[in-house]
Amino acid sequence: MQTSSARLIRESFHQYYKTSVETTLSPSLIRQREFGFILSDRKTMLRHKSFQNSASLKTHIVNIVPSDVYYSSAYYEAPEADMDKKGWRGADLVFDIDADHIPTPCGKIHDSWVCSGCGFSGKGPSPEKCPICERSKFDTRKWMCDRCLESAKKETIKLLDMLMRDFGFLESELQVYFSGNRGYHVHVESECIRLLDSMARKEIVDYVIGLGLEPELHGLTKKGRINFRNKIDGGGWQGRIGRGALEFLEASSEEITTVGLSKRSIKNLMERRKMLREKLEKGGWLDVTGVGSKNWPKIIRWVVEQKASKIDTVVTTDIHRLIRLSGSLHGKTGFAKVETPVGSLSKFDPLKEAIVFREGEINVDIVEAPRFRIGNKYYGPFRRECQELPTAAALFLICRGAAQARE
Ligand SMILES: [Zn+2]
Ligand SMILES: [Zn+2]
Repeated sequence: MQTSSARLIRESFHQYYKTSVETTLSPSLIRQREFGFILSDRKTMLRHKSFQNSASLKTHIVNIVPSDVYYSSAYYEAPEADMDKKGWRGADLVFDIDADHIPTPCGKIHDSWVCSGCGFSGKGPSPEKCPICERSKFDTRKWMCDRCLESAKKETIKLLDMLMRDFGFLESELQVYFSGNRGYHVHVESECIRLLDSMARKEIVDYVIGLGLEPELHGLTKKGRINFRNKIDGGGWQGRIGRGALEFLEASSEEITTVGLSKRSIKNLMERRKMLREKLEKGGWLDVTGVGSKNWPKIIRWVVEQKASKIDTVVTTDIHRLIRLSGSLHGKTGFAKVETPVGSLSKFDPLKEAIVFREGEINVDIVEAPRFRIGNKYYGPFRRECQELPTAAALFLICRGAAQARE
């Protein structure tokens, strides 16, 4: 028998899909894609499906009312065949940026864990081993707030800058989406990346995260001089390091102390930083001297850390990946995966744009929830209480397993 919560989610999702425009649920070259569905029991995964057009996909979704809908970034000759018989014909280049991969202080406020062994619990990310029983299985509860969604957006903006400035992709080849939960997806659909294998995609990943970047190959000489020919508006990591060094020279003294320089070097830098900044801005690197051969590698390491984009590296290298379908609902939030134009990302508010259930109120029994925002309104924190909430807020708590609908 279905609980009232499960019934409510199913009815709401059904209503959403029934009234949604079928073209919003349609990836390009739909016939060559594999589709997958997590059913409303949230346990069963149904995959290796394919559809001739967006109308038949929509009909299927309306009939089964899944919790989550996925499609392959890959194009196949026979999407319904077994994995090794599908006939891979290429794949979009996909990036996933999730708050999970970005350390933010707010995790300590809104995330929590419970040890599956002994029930011991704590705030923030789960430890490697339970401090009481030493087992390493935890039930984790992760939430999102303005702060971690904003950091995910910041990482996405850095990625887009690299894709356009360094890789030369056109804005029209890039699609940016809010995932419907804690992050963003960037899809690149272009002939020139379609046939890249996993290894080639790994090279792109390494570039984006700045892995293996050797300062010596970017102009740092053994004597501690930077020998860049480019000015700081140059392309690639060289220009990016230059712009980052400028930001370093403008950083607060607390931030500068995190880089690992000696007290004397910091004092020296602080005294000369106005002059260094002017030289860097005006003439590029060649005139910037006297920072010290031991200090530049540390500063550059800090800059790379700031400028790299914290993507989920596994998603991009997987050429058979199933990714969430744009326009579909996220089973853990009840929010939609929605697209935002590249140019408007900085102003995009996911907690407004991704909300689809905008009418009515629902009575819920809430176990526990931190403060959260939907639209312009903040709710909670809640602990063991009954509340009448707007539908989107109530469904959000139910989808996260933090509340039950009242009978
Ligand atoms: Zn334990
Ligand atoms: Zn947060």
